[in-house]
Amino acid sequence: MELVALKINGLTDPVGFLFDRVSLSWKVRGAAGKRQKSASIRVTAAGETVFLTAGNPDSLGTALPVPLTPHTRYDVSLTVESDAGETASGVCFFETGKLDEPWTAKWIGCEADGSFHPEYRRCFSLTKPLASARLSITGLGVFEAYCNGQKVGEDLLAPFINDYQAHYQVCTYDVTGLLRSENELTVLLGNGWYRGRFGLSGTAHYEKPFALIAELRLVYADGSVETIGTDERWETRRGVTAASDIYDGETQDLSLDRGAWTGAKTVPAPGALIDRYSPPLTAHEALPVRELIRTPAGETVLDFGQNLAGFVEVATDRSFTLEFGEILQNGNFYHDNYRTAKSVFRYVSDGQCRTVRPRFCFFGFRYVKVTGMENPDPAAFTARAVYSDMDRIGRLETGNAKIDRLHENTVWGLKSNFIDMPTDCPQRDERLGWCGDAQVFAPTACYLMDTRAFYAKFLRDLRSDQRRNDGSAAMYLPNEFAPMCAAVWSDIATLLPETLYRSFGSTDSLRESYPLMRDWVEHVRRLDRARGEKHLWDFGFQYGDWLALDGSTEQSNYGRTDTGYIASLYYYNSARIVAEAARLLDYSEAAEYETLAGQIRAAILKEYFTATGRLAIDTQTGYLCALRFGVYTDRQRILDGLKERIRMDLGRIKGGFVGATMMNTVLADNGLEALAYDFLLYEGFPGWLYAVNHGATTIWERWNSVLPDGSISGTGMNSLNHYAYGSVIEFLYRHAAGIQPLEPGYRRIQLAPKPDVRLRSLRCRYDSACGEIVSAWKIRPDGGVDFHAEIPFGCTAELALPEQEPVALEPGCYDFRLNTQRDYCLLYDENTPMERLLADERAVKLLGPLGLAERKGVEDLARSLADMRRHLVLFRQPTDGIDALIAAIRTLRAEISDDEDESLL
Ligand code: BGC
Repeated sequence: MELVALKINGLTDPVGFLFDRVSLSWKVRGAAGKRQKSASIRVTAAGETVFLTAGNPDSLGTALPVPLTPHTRYDVSLTVESDAGETASGVCFFETGKLDEPWTAKWIGCEADGSFHPEYRRCFSLTKPLASARLSITGLGVFEAYCNGQKVGEDLLAPFINDYQAHYQVCTYDVTGLLRSENELTVLLGNGWYRGRFGLSGTAHYEKPFALIAELRLVYADGSVETIGTDERWETRRGVTAASDIYDGETQDLSLDRGAWTGAKTVPAPGALIDRYSPPLTAHEALPVRELIRTPAGETVLDFGQNLAGFVEVATDRSFTLEFGEILQNGNFYHDNYRTAKSVFRYVSDGQCRTVRPRFCFFGFRYVKVTGMENPDPAAFTARAVYSDMDRIGRLETGNAKIDRLHENTVWGLKSNFIDMPTDCPQRDERLGWCGDAQVFAPTACYLMDTRAFYAKFLRDLRSDQRRNDGSAAMYLPNEFAPMCAAVWSDIATLLPETLYRSFGSTDSLRESYPLMRDWVEHVRRLDRARGEKHLWDFGFQYGDWLALDGSTEQSNYGRTDTGYIASLYYYNSARIVAEAARLLDYSEAAEYETLAGQIRAAILKEYFTATGRLAIDTQTGYLCALRFGVYTDRQRILDGLKERIRMDLGRIKGGFVGATMMNTVLADNGLEALAYDFLLYEGFPGWLYAVNHGATTIWERWNSVLPDGSISGTGMNSLNHYAYGSVIEFLYRHAAGIQPLEPGYRRIQLAPKPDVRLRSLRCRYDSACGEIVSAWKIRPDGGVDFHAEIPFGCTAELALPEQEPVALEPGCYDFRLNTQRDYCLLYDENTPMERLLADERAVKLLGPLGLAERKGVEDLARSLADMRRHLVLFRQPTDGIDALIAAIRTLRAEISDDEDESLL
């Protein structure tokens, strides 16, 4: 037995973070026992025990109410005993930074007009043996610090994206190992999100001057402490960065005369400081050039084979210019879809060989155009992916390579859009914390990564923004149009905390988010009251079912589903979530929010449903939302309505950010998983595999971002790295693998895998907050199904195999062979659309004699043999032929080779 993933507030051994609560979580692996019998936690600081608890603390999160002092390391040791008598121990630590200790350092600035980027330095000697050294630092907009030429910390683009109206984050780094007897500490500043272009308004948010504050805290072996803070003793000169901008890129000019070092000037504090709460933002994967392309236009373009966000590192002594793009057009370099974001990295060499990278920007790209360098050596270029540190917790592979690619594209979509805050896209002049995108993708993200610290940062910023805006929750951060708000987007205020609670089970985090959740609902309630209190949100601006295909045209931004209906349902759901959270947290207002939710529900039923239960909003998204939020009087009527609507829509996805992103999970939650698989596996437009078939390596913003001929379908709003539609991956974890929590945090698990022969097999490892859950299945050549399940320590599961009574599982490994009459290799029935049948030669042969193989009109392709049979019945035609055909079609099986059988579970 061993203890793993010991984390403080979702972070591994955090140093210098904002610890306004300290929560320890852990997992147990490899135990013979089934659950924790007891555990003890000891926290020590400077050899003294400052906290001790024994009993049965919760591995999902146990508060450590330790009195905190600045610059202190707290060592946490944990011992767990299982019910089989084994014990295991583990350690972790956290260390405070400044907390609320006053600064002795002063802000120093830059006298220049901002036409160059400054560099600062402080030289000093160490006169006695050093025990430890910490650098607490922040710079505006973004900084990189170096100690004797070595970079301080792994973070990039620190201090990250801030709620600048409230505060700037301070990072604290352990620099003990970087110091010598003679030292030079240097700091470079860039514009970043603070000073550069950022936001929809396109102009700088804060055109305030560059500024830096830092304190180097030296603790000597003799116990004495010295602090070297920024002040007039620091020096400054022009830096090598001539220009930088998040959207436009960066210019580094090493040939510049940077002038002499002169004394730095102190400046008034530009704002308040706070210890960092952004998780580390670092470089991850390193990708070599896959191909060097000479384009028809004569350009030299590097293809890294994968769309990603980050930068390119170049080992060279030469000057060069790099431009970044996501796709080639007619074989040539292209990035018009970046709109005004120039995305250029220029480097002017001083002739020395170096490994060069931009410091103060990032790019979204797969292709890089190189100019200014004759015959570049591809081996000199490496693409580095940049994103916030998170542990990968979800892995899934199937017997279907295209589905695996879709999964991989979603993982890359996540990585590219988790640069300190959840963004819409990483490449064009936007890269904003769009809340609708984040909200629909969060359940998927929580299957893929340990997102606790990442989302906690975003929630804190949302709350901070909300406090200035009368409870209104932002549509995106930074909030440029406050107090404007919109359903679905602003509903992140309730939906994200709910998703996190479901996935990671921390009541403390839910409590922390509660004010954000409640105040958001109160805000909408006030808006509703101000216009006469109808308990509906059917007024004001809404995005509605953004980018749905049933709008005025397929390229329109707004879908057809009534926006008041959608907004009212989200208002209802937010009120319901607040009521549930209040009930759970034992807050007396629970009843009030239950009443409010009930009133909204009643108003929706009255306004948008007929007296007998028919939904008056006849769109896919309309039905899906009713089912998702459980608002109806007659569920069967809604399901029938949805099925009929889909039939009328010829089996094609019509929904956008609201409907399409929830479609597969709603279908499967309502027993329609076969239909969900149909949508998932559809290879044409509109569908998830269309992009895969057209070479996508990330998720596209639009179903037809790229047209079948390879041309991009417009540049106004067309990103090839927009994770929102990647939310279909939730269906693979929750339904195909069948893993979902019965209790928040997976202490009780529901395991209800839904095999489908079109995937052949599936293997999913989900390292849940309670430990690793494995769900795997494989369809055998004889039509049976084998299942494998692993239930982690401390959990129980309810296993519901298809057509079987549920069974309870204890921790352990299990193999099952399904005992059923059903042949899982069978592919079709009378309801299968003709389009699928026509893709199978065996079916084409059967259809031929009835003349059905030639009917390829749009409607013909969507119709099934059952539809045709109904037609014959209506016109009193004989049905024997079609009955025989249906019988024959129903015998066609997937051919699974024995080889495939080898690769079991
Ligand atoms: C973004 C979206 C976002 C939307 C809001 C777009 O420009 O890229 O993904 O949700 O605006 O309507």
